[in-house]
Amino acid sequence: MTYQNPETIVLHAGYRADPTTAAVAVPIYQTTSYQFKSTEHAANLFALSELGNIYTRIMNPTCDALEQRVAALEGGVAALALASGQAASTFAILNLCQAGDNFVSSTDLYGGTWNLFANTLKQLGVECRFVDPSDPENFRRAVDSRTRCFYAETLPNPKLNLFPIKEVAAIANAIGVPLIMDNTAAPVICRPIEHGAHIVVYSTTKYLGGHGTSIGGLLVDSGKFDWEKWGDRFPLLNQPDPSYHGAVWSQAVKPLGPVAYIIRARVILLRDIGASMSPFNAFQFIQGLETLPLRMRAHCDNATAVAKFLSAHPRVAKVIHPSLQDGELRRRADAILTRGYGGLLGFELKDGIEAGRAFIEKLKMFYHVANIGDARSLAIHPATTTHSQLSAESRLASGVSDGYVRLSIGIEHIDDILADLKQALEAI
Ligand code: PLP
Repeated sequence: MTYQNPETIVLHAGYRADPTTAAVAVPIYQTTSYQFKSTEHAANLFALSELGNIYTRIMNPTCDALEQRVAALEGGVAALALASGQAASTFAILNLCQAGDNFVSSTDLYGGTWNLFANTLKQLGVECRFVDPSDPENFRRAVDSRTRCFYAETLPNPKLNLFPIKEVAAIANAIGVPLIMDNTAAPVICRPIEHGAHIVVYSTTKYLGGHGTSIGGLLVDSGKFDWEKWGDRFPLLNQPDPSYHGAVWSQAVKPLGPVAYIIRARVILLRDIGASMSPFNAFQFIQGLETLPLRMRAHCDNATAVAKFLSAHPRVAKVIHPSLQDGELRRRADAILTRGYGGLLGFELKDGIEAGRAFIEKLKMFYHVANIGDARSLAIHPATTTHSQLSAESRLASGVSDGYVRLSIGIEHIDDILADLKQALEAI
C-alpha cells in the first residue's frame, strides 16, 4: 500500500515487519556483512543482476528502511543514507562533477557547505560558481558546457529568504542540469521535488532526527531527471565506468527504475569513500522520523508566535521569519511552505554586539549551541561565534549584524519559550 500523507508515511513506508522475527520496530542490523547463499548468488549481487546485501559500507537493512521512508516522504524513487549532512552534499556534487567541471550554487548557504564548495572541491578541480539567488536568472547566466548542476538551500540561514525553487527548476530543465536542494531546514513543510527539484540533500542531524543524538545525512533521487537526454553533460552517468567493469549507469540500472544517480552514488562513491551511516544512527533517525510531522507543526507554530512577540519588543530592531515577510518573498513562502513557516528565526537587538552577547548569557532554558532543528530551543550569537572569523563587511553581507541572534525554536510549551526570551531581554 502507498500512502500520501506525511503523518502516515513516516510510520509505515518502506518497512512492515521484520521478515525473520516479525518485529514491528525496525531492528538495528548491527552487522558488517551478509552470508551469501551460493557462489552464484554472490556473483549476481556484485554484478547488480540481483539486489541484496553485500557489506554494510554500501548497504544495510536498517539504513534501507530509513532510506525508503524518506524517499517516500519526499516523493522520490530512492535514497541513500550517509554519515553526515556534509557527506551528503559532497556526494551530491561528486556524483556528477570531475576535475575541470563546474556547478552553480546559491550564495545563501550553511558555512560548512560554503567551505566545502569554495575550498575543498576547488582543490579537487571542481569549481563552484556562486550566484545571488534573488534573481533566478543569475543561475542561467553562470552556466557553460561544463556545468553539471545547480545547488541551493530551501530556507537558508540567516536571511531565511525562501529559495525560488520553481523558477530555478524551470531554468535547470531548459538547460539540462539537475537542481539539488538542501532541505535540511524545511522537512515536511516543503517537498522540493513537488516544485521541480531533482535531488534532495538532508542533514538528518537536525529536524529529521530531532533528538540531537546523532550525526547523519541523506540523498534523495526524484528519478525525474533524464540523464540520457542530456548525455554529453553527464559523462559519469553515460560513459563506461572503468571502476565497475565498464558499466554505463544510465543503461545498466534501467531494469531497476530511474535510479542511475542514486545507484552510482552508492556503488561508486560510498564504495570508495565509505562515508556510510551506521545502523545504530539509522535506527535513531527512524525513531525521530516517526514524530517529524507533529514536531514540525509545533516548531512552526511556536516560531510564528515568537516572531510576533519579538516584533513588538522595544529592545528588538528587526525580526526575520517567513511569517513576517511581505511582497515577493511572502508570495513565494505562501506558495511553497504550505504547512508552516519553519522553526528558524533571527532577530536583531538594538544595542549591538554587547547586547547580543549579554542576551545569550541571560537565557536559562534555551541551549547555547551551534546547531539547529533540535526538539529543544537553541540560540546563538553569530557575530561572536559562527561568523566571528569573517571581516565585519563579509559578516554584514551574509546577513549577520552585530546584534543579530539566531534562534531555533523548539517544541516546548510556548509560554515557557516566551518567558525565557522575555526575562533575558529584560536582563540585558
Ligand atoms: N546543511 C545545512 C543547511 C546545515 O545546517 C548543516 C549543518 O548545520 C549541514 C548541511 C551539515 O550537516 P552535518 O552537520 O550533519 O554534517
